[in-house]
Amino acid sequence: MTAPFDLAAMLERRGALLEGHFLLSSGRHSDRFVQKFRILEEPSLLGPVAGAIAAAFAADRPSVVVSAAVGGIVLGYEVARHLETRAVFVEKERGVPTLRRGFSLNESDRVLVVEDVVTTGTSVREVIEIVRASGATLVGVGAIVRRGAVDFGVRTHALLDLPLRSYDAAECPQCAAGEPLHDPGSRRV
Ligand SMILES: [Zn+2]
Repeated sequence: MTAPFDLAAMLERRGALLEGHFLLSSGRHSDRFVQKFRILEEPSLLGPVAGAIAAAFAADRPSVVVSAAVGGIVLGYEVARHLETRAVFVEKERGVPTLRRGFSLNESDRVLVVEDVVTTGTSVREVIEIVRASGATLVGVGAIVRRGAVDFGVRTHALLDLPLRSYDAAECPQCAAGEPLHDPGSRRV
């Protein structure tokens, strides 16, 4: 299933899909960058995006949406609004992912995990581990953009597949061409 709108064009128009020469948080270089907060900051864009993720999992009857702080909080809340469920989020406490603020999951919960941009899938795996430990049923993983092949052992649906091309600095064609490197710093802002 694809989104019922041209998501790539919408993201480009909002400056969420950048083309250039970027330093990734991994230290590698890439010619494209997803500036996810250009999606998350705009309710008129996030609303239909979250609605499309919710629609993809409505038949699974989730009872709660779980996401990872910080970007996932806004997306999770908006998906939950469409599904009429609770939304809780995982955050780090002394570096350890955990449910704080009295958030809880129990064995009768049916959990949809959502993430804005899935690249390596590390933060999704951290959330899934907490869901599994609670005894709740994981019904799926929904994402806005998927940048790599990931297998979470459960049905995963992304609205847009945008495979990441990245290079070691020593092998980067744009470095070789002398193009200036930009640091969009999504994890540092
Ligand atoms: Zn480079």
